Amino acid sequence: MLQGTYSSRHGFAFFKNLRLCRLFMGSRIIIHCDLDAFFAAVETLHHNLDPEIPLILGSDPKNGKGRGIVSTCNYAARKYGIRSAMPIGEAWRRCPGPPLGPGHYLKSTRGLYSRASRKVMAILSESADRFEQASIDEAYLDVTDFCDGDWDRALALTRNLQMEIMNELGLSTSFGIGPTRILAKMGSEENKPAGIHRTLPDEIISFFDGRSVREVPGIGPKTATRLAEWGISTVSEAAEHGEIALSRFTSERFASWIMRVIDGESSDDVSPLRSRKSVGKEYTFEIDQIDCESVLSQLSLLVKKVMSRAKDMGVAGRLGEVKIRYQGFETHTHGRSIPVAMDDESVFMRIAHGLFAENVDLDRPIRLVGFRLGNLEMPSSRQSTLDFEE
Ligand SMILES: [Mg+2]
Repeated sequence: MLQGTYSSRHGFAFFKNLRLCRLFMGSRIIIHCDLDAFFAAVETLHHNLDPEIPLILGSDPKNGKGRGIVSTCNYAARKYGIRSAMPIGEAWRRCPGPPLGPGHYLKSTRGLYSRASRKVMAILSESADRFEQASIDEAYLDVTDFCDGDWDRALALTRNLQMEIMNELGLSTSFGIGPTRILAKMGSEENKPAGIHRTLPDEIISFFDGRSVREVPGIGPKTATRLAEWGISTVSEAAEHGEIALSRFTSERFASWIMRVIDGESSDDVSPLRSRKSVGKEYTFEIDQIDCESVLSQLSLLVKKVMSRAKDMGVAGRLGEVKIRYQGFETHTHGRSIPVAMDDESVFMRIAHGLFAENVDLDRPIRLVGFRLGNLEMPSSRQSTLDFEE
């Protein structure tokens, strides 16, 4: 069925044998690749800057008097507490530019990022049975057959990919290798930047041991707070309670999900196919907006509405998408997908703010802004009664 998306170097019979083999071996090998401070890294190369100097991309700070937002920043600027979507004035207070401080403020160079991203994705997709781009700077690779189920080969492959992307494009990447998307994603966060972390199937328990539940993608701040009320702050504590007790504090769905995560079973397939089902909302401004702070607050309202609608419908999504239409009707859509479906408002709020801040063209008046929750998952019994927006 998915034959077309498998690497052509393997015949079907070979794949079938491996598949049988894998039934015995039991697990897939998933790689997650995340570019390190991608936008800032591309600008650093483009302008030949010193990566040790705090670089802040976004609106003109006008010596602290400017309005507007931070698009994104490099690791040196993050040390000052500067974050994507922060008001540019606050960034300036934390790390002013010359002569008051070391901050280097720049406006993003449009077009540079998608070009660099395409090159990275081309390198990555060549080495996978199945490949899924999760956003402009993130991708999942299923390499189970590509590496013949061999975890050492997967590690060697990852090292080569990391080197190739650095040598050919000058960009730093972090990789996670694991039996599920969640473990791969958590792995790439583990030694950032320029890190590689591999979690073998028999290392899952020790990987989760003592780890805060907040680090698990799929556990949003709300669920974490509810668990904390019951004295559960680590993954191991959750596991000790067991599914039945957990379903009493949270929900049956969550309890069975977290137990599967801990067992290394919970994982969505790496797939280039996306579910078309989505729920979204848009807002058209009466007057085209040049103030991106006010567009951002309108976007926040849309995210709230969409997430409460999703909750009412009993659905969760794996993809957040922000739509921006400029004066003259040019429309851009920017998306980011997460390893598991969620219905947590704060998670998608952060994704929406990040996508907006990183991608908005600060020079152009905005006519419309929209948010869409995509790749929906829902209880199958309710599927037929739901209606979805385009
Ligand atoms: Mg990244």
